[in-house]
Amino acid sequence: MLGAGAALGVLEQAMRAALAASGAALLEAVLAGDGDGYAGPHAECGHGHRASYAGCRPKVITTVLGPVRVARAWYHCRECEHGFAPRDEQLGVPGTSLSPGLAEMIARAGAEVPFGKAAALVKDLAGVAVSAKTTERSAEASGAAARAAAEAESAAIRGRRIVPLPPAGPVPDMLYVEVDGTGVPVRATETEGRRGKGEDGSARTREVKLARLFTVSRLDEAGRPVTDAGSSTYVATFDGKDALAPLVKAEYLRRGGDHHRQVVALGDGAAWIWTMAGDLYPHATHITDIYHAREHLHDLAAHLAFITPDPPGWLASRLKELDAGDIEAIIGAARAYPLEGVKASELDTKIGYFEHNIHRMRYARYRRLGMFTGSGHIEAACKQIVVQRAKQSGMHWTVQGAASIIALRTQHASGRWDELWTPGPGQPAPPRAAI
Ligand SMILES: [Zn+2]
Repeated sequence: MLGAGAALGVLEQAMRAALAASGAALLEAVLAGDGDGYAGPHAECGHGHRASYAGCRPKVITTVLGPVRVARAWYHCRECEHGFAPRDEQLGVPGTSLSPGLAEMIARAGAEVPFGKAAALVKDLAGVAVSAKTTERSAEASGAAARAAAEAESAAIRGRRIVPLPPAGPVPDMLYVEVDGTGVPVRATETEGRRGKGEDGSARTREVKLARLFTVSRLDEAGRPVTDAGSSTYVATFDGKDALAPLVKAEYLRRGGDHHRQVVALGDGAAWIWTMAGDLYPHATHITDIYHAREHLHDLAAHLAFITPDPPGWLASRLKELDAGDIEAIIGAARAYPLEGVKASELDTKIGYFEHNIHRMRYARYRRLGMFTGSGHIEAACKQIVVQRAKQSGMHWTVQGAASIIALRTQHASGRWDELWTPGPGQPAPPRAAI
């Protein structure tokens, strides 16, 4: 069946190869027309010295059209013992032989699939041969540049050097902020001195923390909230909760968080999430994820199963109370049995989860108000952004490498991919890193 149209298939591939080849020739001519970047007998080296012209040094740049040869005036700085071509800066190729267009393609493929497969995709779909190693280096360099750009933007927003525009009207009714974390398998050198889940107690993974912001404008016929399509944006970091908070703050400001009537912070019950929410959006409604709350309730019921007359019935009643948001009833029922010693202090801990989060567990009320009570969105995001790419069998990342690829994935999932490669007016140039 695939054989049908084979003649056309051969023809179109041949035609594309021919067009690419003539395109490369045309590009080479266009670039040659712009000169070789000659800036006189001397040029500033970047470190305050006068570098001297040292002749013309051509370079082959691999582009989406194939290899293209460019002439470059070469300068040498005697003090730095370093040479450079101003033309490379103009073209965005200092320290690399990959064109910006090809680097973007490689980043896109490398963000999506393992580097070997990404190289094969670029070859099969774009007709440009690059090695798996080059793909890895280039995609990670683009990711590192994306991270640096995101961090710079984040700092500028927090420092009010960038003032985001209010969200376009009509402003969605509710803005949700959810946070979660997941482990990424890393090389042994990346976990030295850290406690973890390895057999000898050493860590084999490093946690990446992820936050998702999204909006809700309407409810479905059953009165359940509907996530606005395309409204999700993400921030991520390997540097822990103290590094996540400023990223979330900037993203909240960038999206004009204060313009939404209702902000909802959903968390698994970990205290730091509420501390962060209290600092960043104190007026928000805090909700403890109902699935985590149920797990804790199962755990509590198991702890008391030796003493409750009908353990399954006891749990069922408490689950109903949880759904109703009647946390006082749960606490009362659990306190009805006098325990002693270790059992009693363990009970205190388990009940403590409910006591500390009591005002974040009014589930019936949240449902009436049309709010989500479960943090399924952030768990789905962890899978989509981190697990699918970074937690494949046999993968052992450097933290830098994983963070770079995850930066590309969050940027893409946030619908901000193009911003990485085409700066808007007044924005800094797109990220390019030497590889
Ligand atoms: Zn110098």
